[in-house]
Amino acid sequence: MTSRRRHLRTVPTPPEQPVAPVQLLNWRHWSHFDRPAPCVLCGTPTSLRSHAQEPAHKVCAELWNAAHPGETRFVSDPPKGGTTDHA
Ligand SMILES: [Zn+2]
Repeated sequence: MTSRRRHLRTVPTPPEQPVAPVQLLNWRHWSHFDRPAPCVLCGTPTSLRSHAQEPAHKVCAELWNAAHPGETRFVSDPPKGGTTDHA
């Protein structure tokens, strides 16, 4: 048996569970910090930046990702020393 993940879209989700699983982002790198600017998602000032240099709280980005499955607007840092390439 393998534990490979299947595409979420192929899994029928019951309407009783509106909350999608939230994937936590790793934004610890220094490049994710800058001067405070209004979060593009909630409007509250934040020092965090996405990879696209969009001001956004990590939590806001995580929730946005959960609400927009398949989108890659906010991505997590690659794991230390690992590769993100999935053949
Ligand atoms: Zn925010």
